[in-house]
Amino acid sequence: MEVAVDRELCVGHGVCESIAADLFAVGDDGTVQILRTEIPAELAAAAATAVAGCPTRALRLVTRNSQ
Ligand code: SF4
Repeated sequence: MEVAVDRELCVGHGVCESIAADLFAVGDDGTVQILRTEIPAELAAAAATAVAGCPTRALRLVTRNSQ
């Protein structure tokens, strides 16, 4: 599982970072940086909470097929 960000929607106030600092950091450009390409199982719940908590719906979970 991965997290994708729509930078057009991100306004950089860092709700995601406050929920999961291991996965998200707001960069100098004022938009979020995704820190992990693949979300480890132990961070999956935090990732889902951050996605749900983004006020502008800039984040989404992406599940890739392993084929
Ligand atoms: S919570 Fe959403 S809008 Fe705020 S920094 Fe994170 S991705 Fe951007």
